[in-house]
Amino acid sequence: MELWYTEKHSESVNFSLKVKEHLFSGQSEFQKLDILDTYEYGKLMTLDGLVMVTEKDEFVYHDMIVHTPMAVNPDVKNVLVIGGGDGGTVRELMRYNNIEHVDMVEIDKLVCDAAKKYLPTLSCELNNPKVTLLYEDGVKFVKESPDNKYDLIIIDSTDPIGPGEGLFTTEFYTNCHRILTENGILVNQNESVFYEDTQEAALKANSKLKKIFPIVKVYQANIPTYPSGYWLFGFASKKYDPIKDLQADKWNSLGLKTKYYNTDLHVGAFALPSFVKEFFENG
Ligand code: SAM
Repeated sequence: MELWYTEKHSESVNFSLKVKEHLFSGQSEFQKLDILDTYEYGKLMTLDGLVMVTEKDEFVYHDMIVHTPMAVNPDVKNVLVIGGGDGGTVRELMRYNNIEHVDMVEIDKLVCDAAKKYLPTLSCELNNPKVTLLYEDGVKFVKESPDNKYDLIIIDSTDPIGPGEGLFTTEFYTNCHRILTENGILVNQNESVFYEDTQEAALKANSKLKKIFPIVKVYQANIPTYPSGYWLFGFASKKYDPIKDLQADKWNSLGLKTKYYNTDLHVGAFALPSFVKEFFENG
């Protein structure tokens, strides 16, 4: 009998992947986690029945959430990652020699444990001595962190339901702003506006960030396993404009080989389709 993973991408759209094997199913105090081995996308991690990462397309998400801010300020030294339990974000950060330290605050230890066992190509740097892994709520962590501590905050979160809800609030973003240095940049996964289901979350994150940071922009990427395949990220900064301040030559001189990101694409990623521009302007 054929085994298929099916996820509802909108009220009337389903997305399905043919599965070789259901490798793991576990329930933490926060969410249900499953690992499936699929034919086309390799291993897949879901939380509460929603795709978090697949081996085949994770490079798009992790390239865009890490290298985009790093090319604007390649001198980043201290980084805070909120969520990110699969390890993909930390793996990309660890490619920068000048990054001195990363605090990764993941609420659910089960996500890291499962990633270490089933997704070694993502979780391979979680034990790097430059990384401090903390299993706690990111909302509480930023509230208790001192001012001006981080050069970069990456919010690699789930949707604003369940444990991720507090990561889309004004209070959370205000604390992020406070704990960032004057050169500080924040990036977040900013949902999508293609289907109605995720529009509210996308707008919520963007409008709240705009109230707190002087520079807030949205950028895009194609991620086949996320609803509609059209996904957005948010870029917020105290002083850097992601295009005017892009340090393309400096970033290219680092010689990092990336499968999705490059500095030409960086500029294009901020050039939004008209319906997306209108959505955020009118929202
Ligand atoms: N790439 C994914 C996506 O956009 O669908 C998200 C990656 S997944 C690793 C997000 C992580 O955020 C989950 O492991 C989840 O446990 C974590 N998370 C959710 N709420 C959190 C919170 N309040 N504090 C810290 N981590 C949280």
